[in-house]
Amino acid sequence: MSLLRRLVNSMAVPAEKSDAPMDVPNDAVTRKLVRDPVCGMHLAAGLAIVQRQGGEVLYFCSEECREKFAGAPKKFAANA
Ligand SMILES: [Zn+2]
Repeated sequence: MSLLRRLVNSMAVPAEKSDAPMDVPNDAVTRKLVRDPVCGMHLAAGLAIVQRQGGEVLYFCSEECREKFAGAPKKFAANA
């Protein structure tokens, strides 16, 4: 029965979203766009490196950006 259910689900998913910036899995959380405070690029939350800091959640495009932020968080926080 799982195959049938999968078929039904795939038909129920809207196929538009032509404004989607990139091809990521069709999931509301994964598709949410976030901004990397270090390099300023936007990326899908599901692809980002997530770091919690205080009450904030920060997203980075790469380990490199995360480490840059860790080295100088104030520099980038003003910019976020
Ligand atoms: Zn970055």
